[in-house]
Amino acid sequence: MPLPDIVPGRSCENCTLCCKVLGIPALEKPRGTVCTHCDWGQGCKIYARRPGACADFDCSYLLSPALGDEWKPTTAHLVLGYMTEADIILIYTDPDHSAAWREEPYNSRIKTWAASTAKGYVLIWEGSRALALLGADEFDLGVVRDDQVIVRHEQPGPGGSKVTISVVDKAVADAERRGD
Ligand code: SF4
Ligand code: SF4
Repeated sequence: MPLPDIVPGRSCENCTLCCKVLGIPALEKPRGTVCTHCDWGQGCKIYARRPGACADFDCSYLLSPALGDEWKPTTAHLVLGYMTEADIILIYTDPDHSAAWREEPYNSRIKTWAASTAKGYVLIWEGSRALALLGADEFDLGVVRDDQVIVRHEQPGPGGSKVTISVVDKAVADAERRGD
């Protein structure tokens, strides 16, 4: 599959926010802490041998012309990602500005995304704490451990289906997928 293009005029220059907000399992780096290999605001000190998770990551600000310059991570204090197949919008907040996503001009746009997804949701990370938004509902998922996953569950009912988002152990989710 061809790699998506970077929006003309955008770059990572002077921004290393993803090196703080993302968790990097290969480095045992938790979400919300600056990577020990990060030269803050400059770049990666081990760029040539950085883990694949780092090399593969381009935030949505770089990739999406639908996001204006106000979404630049150093301005918004937010780093956005997108899981295409599941239609999940990921929003990682800078722990030093954990309420940034509740502020404008961001919050109304985020709520629009949460209201318009057919099969996904918006997932906000505040360090290792997660919050999911779907429609007008907020699901406070609390601290999510590395051995847990977030699942969207749709329960059909007489008045229409009810959707919930919750955290389950990976082992339980794997067993459910296998039909155990
Ligand atoms: S958050 Fe986006 S713009 Fe900033 S360094 Fe990471 S990929 Fe580049
Ligand atoms: S290894 Fe480099 S690119 Fe990856 S999080 Fe650390 S500083 Fe950032």
